Amino acid sequence: MTIEELLGEIAATPTAYHAAARIRARLEEAGYEEAGETLLPGKNYFVPLYGSALAAFRLPEKTPDGFVIAAAHADSPCFRIRDAAELPGGPYLSLSAERYGGMIHESWLDLPLSVAGRVFCRAGHGVEARLVDFRRDTALIPRVAIHLNHEANNGAKADPARDLIPLYGLSSSAGSFGEELAREAGVAREEIVSTDLFLYNRRAGTVWGARGEFFSAPRLDDLACVYTCLEAFLTAKPAACVPVLAVFDNEEIGSLTKQGAMSAFLPGLLSRIAAAYGAPLSRLLASSLALSCDNGHARHPNRPELADRSEAPVLGGGPVVKHSPRYATDGLSAALFTGVCRRRGIPCQNYSNRPDQPGGSTIGNMLSAFTPVSAADIGIAQLAMHSAYETAAVADVCSFTDAVRACYETSFAISGSSAEIL
Ligand SMILES: [Zn+2]
Repeated sequence: MTIEELLGEIAATPTAYHAAARIRARLEEAGYEEAGETLLPGKNYFVPLYGSALAAFRLPEKTPDGFVIAAAHADSPCFRIRDAAELPGGPYLSLSAERYGGMIHESWLDLPLSVAGRVFCRAGHGVEARLVDFRRDTALIPRVAIHLNHEANNGAKADPARDLIPLYGLSSSAGSFGEELAREAGVAREEIVSTDLFLYNRRAGTVWGARGEFFSAPRLDDLACVYTCLEAFLTAKPAACVPVLAVFDNEEIGSLTKQGAMSAFLPGLLSRIAAAYGAPLSRLLASSLALSCDNGHARHPNRPELADRSEAPVLGGGPVVKHSPRYATDGLSAALFTGVCRRRGIPCQNYSNRPDQPGGSTIGNMLSAFTPVSAADIGIAQLAMHSAYETAAVADVCSFTDAVRACYETSFAISGSSAEIL
């Protein structure tokens, strides 16, 4: 996938709902069917999960050796807008919003924001969901001028209830939000029953640097992995394992939701696939590899001391294998992933937290705990994780896609503590 294609996908994916819809459309275009009660060998399926997550898989004709799973998350830190969206305040009209995920507050200030998500509209005796995206600069969280806050450059802390409230209009515009929402949804205002709406950064992605080495965009964590994994999944040659792509929601708030990686969704799905072949799930899992794909921290150019002294990835250095007690990677999964990459001539790099830092966590441990499978946490090296605008290297988009595709095209014979890459 080209960098322009990736930036286009990210721009068209303001929320996890839009990610699920776009991925579904790509899968349907490629001939995938929504899975019903019965799974048939030789067919390609997807399973949607509550509108913001989904899994896809291809079933070979013969009983597979195991699974190769690539999982990523489609949510990013942002602001959630309440159902009663407008917040009057003197001459101004603000939006009633709260933080979603662990964002860098400062990166969201003085930035044009738009509104996207889904609304539930009346339909007969029930409701139906509709995706919405205002696709215009709608709101902004203004900084306080330095003349009024002389501490602005001294690490002033933002109070979310005071300093992170998005300005939306003048008080005379009261009622506009509901009107625009109804227009976007294509229904009368009174038909909207409830909402799942978010503010997102509309700034376009861009390629930059001395030789165009870098690119920056909103939501790189983790849409860069979502779309490179989708590309790898759709373009991988058939192999003896079942290739599975899983895109979850809610990683930024701990994954413990029905559409998150800690749900029973993936274990249940893999059980159904095993049953389609009359094969014991435990046998298939024993020869499987799961890749938890989420971006990793690159060594920062201005703050190299924050990185580990030996395991600090650089932008453009290839896929990152993440190691820490909070990651799923172990010696076996690292050997399998790097072995596949070595065979294809794809460079890899290791990430470890500096020993005094706890670092972050992601979905790998959840996947491998609830689905006992050898798992590696991998990702694309990036800077400014959880900023509203994040940075990575153009070359890593290609090498990461190649690495995930190579794993999809490989089988693994794992027996206890020994393994063979087939
Ligand atoms: Zn992430």
